[in-house]
Amino acid sequence: MINAILLFSYFLQIMPTKTKKLNQNAVIIGGGPAGFATALMLAKRGWQEITVLEKRPAADFYEPDKSFSYQIDGRGQKFTDLLGLTEKLAKISVANTDFYLTEIKADGNRKTSKFPRVDPNSKTAYWLPRRAFLQLLYQEIEQNWQHSIQVLFNTKCVKIDRENSKLKIISQNINNENTIEFEPHLLVGCDGLNSLVRKTLDKWDNSASNKFKMQFFPSASSGLKYKVLTLPPNFALDNNSSERAKCTMGYAIRAAFSDSQGSLSLGILPFPDPNEPRTANIIRRPDHEIWKIKEGDKLQQFLESAFPQLPIHEIVSSEESDRFAKSEGGYFPIPQYCSGLHWLVSDKNDSTGVVLLGDAVHCFPPDIGQGVNSALEDVCMLNQALTESNDIISDTLPLYESRRSPDLKPLIRLTQTAFPWPYNQDIPRKRLALINFFVRFLLSRILPFIFSPPAVMMIQNHQLSYREIWSMAEKTTQIIYIFLGLTFIGSCVYLSFIANIFRV
Ligand SMILES: Cc1cc2nc3c(=O)[nH]c(=O)nc-3n(C[C@H](O)[C@H](O)[C@H](O)COP(=O)(O)OP(=O)(O)OC[C@H]3O[C@@H](n4cnc5c(N)ncnc54)[C@H](O)[C@@H]3O)c2cc1C
Repeated sequence: MINAILLFSYFLQIMPTKTKKLNQNAVIIGGGPAGFATALMLAKRGWQEITVLEKRPAADFYEPDKSFSYQIDGRGQKFTDLLGLTEKLAKISVANTDFYLTEIKADGNRKTSKFPRVDPNSKTAYWLPRRAFLQLLYQEIEQNWQHSIQVLFNTKCVKIDRENSKLKIISQNINNENTIEFEPHLLVGCDGLNSLVRKTLDKWDNSASNKFKMQFFPSASSGLKYKVLTLPPNFALDNNSSERAKCTMGYAIRAAFSDSQGSLSLGILPFPDPNEPRTANIIRRPDHEIWKIKEGDKLQQFLESAFPQLPIHEIVSSEESDRFAKSEGGYFPIPQYCSGLHWLVSDKNDSTGVVLLGDAVHCFPPDIGQGVNSALEDVCMLNQALTESNDIISDTLPLYESRRSPDLKPLIRLTQTAFPWPYNQDIPRKRLALINFFVRFLLSRILPFIFSPPAVMMIQNHQLSYREIWSMAEKTTQIIYIFLGLTFIGSCVYLSFIANIFRV
């Protein structure tokens, strides 16, 4: 009987910390892919008071130089599957199984080929503009989760404080400068590359670990400048207007300048909507001639001489030339990550903490198309940690960090090495990278139990973690080096043997 009473009182003591607490409120800074996805994941778990603060005016706000496309692969689809959104995603995207690319040379010659799927066994991936993906997530919030999620656009988080084991978030409306304050149990930092949340944690952290400081890993693409040129839907592909662009077709339109310094391409990804303007990515070194042009009419002249195969005056309006010439564009970031993903403000009953996801903790150029997919995988891993910890913040956040942090350095190493030189910025080195790809590919086909396929293929297998992929790729590299070393030593021994025979 005494034992039963002791057992009962023990359970009473532990009950408060083990009870699922779904009335906790969360504030998410940033309404990009990671922010909207986290809001939906928390709402699906039953959290009731979720606020997203986003400084842009709307989910589908058109920012010409951010109008690039995402490829949502199997990794990103772990999230869309969780929310039951994959079918809707497929309807508004172009599947990579239907992706054709037409290369148009300066002399007008064209060649259309099926865009290669690096791993035919991988899940079908879907191409769609960033804007369309954000709108898909926002519509889901509006239609099904309005009672638990509020999104405040035009609202910028300006300060984060902690007072007496509580978090205080100060935000400001960009239009009227009104201040709104929040005291959430959970603060989620999804505020991208220059994350205020991460920088605040870095200031709070007195340890010598520097775990909230970004660590940088240079890559061939970092520092490249990009701008996006907007073209009309179905724009003419030649000077006679005899053929027009198809929205589901990708295009690589090559300029007349062939030297590697001056070479230029318009990279146009497929779009699902035939009425949407097309966007042509221009990605070049920061010292390229095109970036020096600051006036619209001079840009028109430049484009006419660069792309004689296109009716530039017809497909690039003078307003668009002007906008493009004056735009600052953007620069691909240096691959970077930080190992600290959480901070506990209080681990008492009412636990309170901060967690970081997406570009706020790992950011890199788009070479391997993992920016949005890794961000969505972060959300799924946070969801898993919440499930295993009964939604108790003080248990969840360390668990999430211990599971996700070991993937981040491998992810960054993969962005450095898996598919370097994709923008033709150095043709000889691109060829070497292709040789490396084919050697690994062939070895993995001949001796699959010894050699792994190229890392860029393994990334498409969403069941492998980044750390598993990196470790398999490194093991293959080591075996190739050992094999080359042994071949070299063997050749030397053989040559000296032959030399000795002739001397005799
Ligand atoms: C040119 C280019 C091409 C790319 N192409 C690809 C690609 O093909 N495939 C791919 O997977 N990835 C690509 N990426 C990377 C991808 O865009 C990012 O990895 C992804 O957007 C990360 O999502 P996020 O939500 O973490 O951050 P973001 O998308 O950066 O979202 C952060 C949000 O937070 C908001 N915000 C920031 N600070 C505050 C604040 N203080 N208060 C309120 N709001 C704030 C911002 O307005 C923004 O909306 C590309 C990136 C670039 C630059």
